[in-house]
Amino acid sequence: STMPPLLSAISNAGRHGVLAKSAVVMERLGQADLAALDKTGTLTEGTPQVTDVRPLPGSGLGPDALLLLAARAEHPSEHPLARAVVAAARERQPVPGGATGFASLPGRGVAATVDGRRIEVGSPSALLYGRPGSGPGPSGGACAAEVAALEEAGRTAVVVLRDGAPVGVLGIADRLRPDARATVAALAELTGRSPVLLTGDNERAARRLAAELGITDVRAGLLPEDKAAAVRAWEAEGLKVLVVGDGVNDAPALAAAHCGIAMGKAGSDLALETADAIVVRDELAAVPAVVALSRTARRLVV
Ligand code: ADP
Ligand code: MG
Repeated sequence: STMPPLLSAISNAGRHGVLAKSAVVMERLGQADLAALDKTGTLTEGTPQVTDVRPLPGSGLGPDALLLLAARAEHPSEHPLARAVVAAARERQPVPGGATGFASLPGRGVAATVDGRRIEVGSPSALLYGRPGSGPGPSGGACAAEVAALEEAGRTAVVVLRDGAPVGVLGIADRLRPDARATVAALAELTGRSPVLLTGDNERAARRLAAELGITDVRAGLLPEDKAAAVRAWEAEGLKVLVVGDGVNDAPALAAAHCGIAMGKAGSDLALETADAIVVRDELAAVPAVVALSRTARRLVV
């Protein structure tokens, strides 16, 4: 064809299921020398399932009531964990709306008023200890014991608080994407560096998943701004970072990166707006494919 090489690269990217927002993006993709990958919804399928429902003694709640309470607070959230909670509750009972004062705290969880009581659902370290992270972790108490047991089993543990006091813990599990391992290997080869995992989830679950993927550099318990700070630190060292993410919590990192790619199918609007390119077909392997394409196109231009 007579198309200029970069335009033809964009068109080829489209054939791989990636929408590049500009020709500059096609150049930048191939320049990446480090890939930083989000966990939930990016390396995992992003359709997690609730596997455990554990009301705490003294809460006066049974499993169905706990799940319903969490689902009513999570209802307005677009987070994959919120969708899992609502779907699990709906399998058992109708989930009425009527929650008010909804607030989403990216990287931490949600809060809303349900039947006059303040309900919070989210990360144990953020909601119980004020800050997400891999620190000493919860210790002591029925709630902490449930959280530790679930995380030890590789689950994401989510706590439910009512008027500030924990009333239950939910265990949530997500599957790795079938092409996650091959994608990590391909990006390592293309960039010359082993990709890094960036996640707001707990360190135990993150390390378990990273080990399956051959990733050794794991940054867990990160808030959205922490992800961006990590990217900026690498960029300050002279690395050109390719960030792949899907969530509202990934938007600052996508913006800070040399090049940001969002997973389109389940991606949040903010991630899709902020990213330089979007994976429109739900295949992670499209990411290394377009990086390779970009390199070929650059060789033709130079
Ligand atoms: P990741 O970086 O892996 O995509 P997030 O930053 O979106 O994960 O979330 C980090 C953690 O914050 C989750 O593991 C969970 O504990 C908590 N969290 C965030 N949003 C929600 C929500 N809507 N419901 C429950 N927990 C949430
Ligand atoms: Mg995510």
